Amino acid sequence: MRKAFLKNAQESLLKMREQVLADIESDTKSSRDGHKDEGMDTYDIASEERDRDISMILSDRDRRKLQQVDEALTRIKAGTYGICDECELDIAEERLKALPFTRLCVICQADLEKEARQTRQGDDDRAIRRFAVGDDGGDDS
Ligand SMILES: [Zn+2]
Repeated sequence: MRKAFLKNAQESLLKMREQVLADIESDTKSSRDGHKDEGMDTYDIASEERDRDISMILSDRDRRKLQQVDEALTRIKAGTYGICDECELDIAEERLKALPFTRLCVICQADLEKEARQTRQGDDDRAIRRFAVGDDGGDDS
C-alpha cells in the first residue's frame, strides 16, 4: 500500500467521520421536529413511540458507520489497512477509494452479503454492491 494512498484514505476517513457526526446531530434535531414523509395513515397511532424508533435506527446506523471509520483509522496506524479481514489478501485500491472503511475484499463482501440476504433484506449495503461491480480484482496493488 502506497504512502500517498494511505494518506488520502486517512483524509477521506477523517472527513467522513466529521460528516457522520454532523449527520447524527441533524438527525437528532429533525426527528424531534417530526418527519411527515412516511406512514401518514398510521402516524397518529403511538407517534411518540414511532419517533423514538426511527431516531434509534438512524443513530444505530450512524454509530455503526462511525465505528467502521474509526476502525479503518486504527488500521492505517497499525499498518494493516487495505488487507481483507477474511482472506488476508490486499483489497483493490479502487474499492478502498470508493469505500475507505471497508474491511473486506470484493469477493468476501459478496459472500457476506449473500449470507446476509438469506436472513434479512440488505438496505444501505446496496452502494457497496454497486461499487463492487466495477472491481474485478486481478491487478497489481
Ligand atoms: Zn477477502
